[in-house]
Amino acid sequence: EPKLSGDFAKLMKWADEYRTLAIRTNADSPADSKRAREFGAEGIGLCRTEHMFFDAERITHMRTMILAQDEKDRRAALKKLLPFQRKDFEGIFKAMNGLPVTVRLLDPPLHEFLPHETASQKIVAKELGVSAAEVAKRGEALHESNPMLGHRGCRLSVTYPEILEMQVRAIVEAAINCAGKKIKAMPEIMIPLVGTANELELLRKKVEATIEETKAAKKFDGKLDISIGTMIEIPRAALTANEIAAHADFFSFGTNDLTQMTFGYSRDDVNTFLPDYLQQEILNVDPFQSLDTSGVGQLVEMGVEKGRSVKKGLKVGICGEHGGDPASIDFCHKAGLDYVSCSPFRVPIARLAAAQAALNAKK
Ligand code: PEP
Ligand code: MG
Repeated sequence: EPKLSGDFAKLMKWADEYRTLAIRTNADSPADSKRAREFGAEGIGLCRTEHMFFDAERITHMRTMILAQDEKDRRAALKKLLPFQRKDFEGIFKAMNGLPVTVRLLDPPLHEFLPHETASQKIVAKELGVSAAEVAKRGEALHESNPMLGHRGCRLSVTYPEILEMQVRAIVEAAINCAGKKIKAMPEIMIPLVGTANELELLRKKVEATIEETKAAKKFDGKLDISIGTMIEIPRAALTANEIAAHADFFSFGTNDLTQMTFGYSRDDVNTFLPDYLQQEILNVDPFQSLDTSGVGQLVEMGVEKGRSVKKGLKVGICGEHGGDPASIDFCHKAGLDYVSCSPFRVPIARLAAAQAALNAKK
């Protein structure tokens, strides 16, 4: 296990005396959470729950859920996923005991989980009591030409609220289990890809109702510290951040999607024409790496300003790749963010960059 020690640890401690930005990490397993904590992470800024569904047994339930045609069958498959999710969250809350953990509800287009080989189509067919051909047909019907602009993020929770309910239930049950073991879970439930205030208003109500239902079902009357917020990763969300803030306890800038949608450059094809293209004196930075001069930063500043104009002191962070880039961290400090979140191995460099940013601001 990598640990900070000796002069390196001392240098980090000095950096911590100067920085005002908190440093969190992007992690979705207890092992990554623990590693990041050892590097000095002060919480999880992004737990991508989609990574939790690829294990053999889980993927079958996930596929069954997606390919089911009515809510009853979807709920039956989700019920089987619930114990896995609860265990995932309990492990992460334990690793981050006493620190905030931002859990993002399922984000990717559902078809990313679909079975393509006949063997796995047969397994799902058996679960659903239909033919393998029917499973293949239902899978094809989910195909989208531009899935990253399609049925993903909060749009999934609007269409299939039962997915949100399963995840929120798992978070709350995990937090209750932790409380019984004297572990302090501090979940922050994050809703992705919000573009209009109405989406967040609707889904927040569902999250709140599910929290209350779960507490009642578990006969838990203690206090749970759960906040509900959103990602700002669609340009429209930054432009209307004042409306969105009314329903959010926190914002987290998803600058990967925000860059993609602001420039119209596909984030999944950055290695095709883009590097050469940008070198034609088109842009002197890689916008997916650097926030400060790409123009996307202006949307971040606008989002912070509009959000805090209706909610003073609104907690704001960043969890896109830029959160681990020193120049972007300097920018985030100036924009008044509360924290940056980056991959575990970038946590030390982020601590240093945040200290440098604070010193630069004093100049
Ligand atoms: C983002 O869009 O910046 C983000 C953090 O989410 P993801 O990369 O998972 O889309
Ligand atoms: Mg995103």
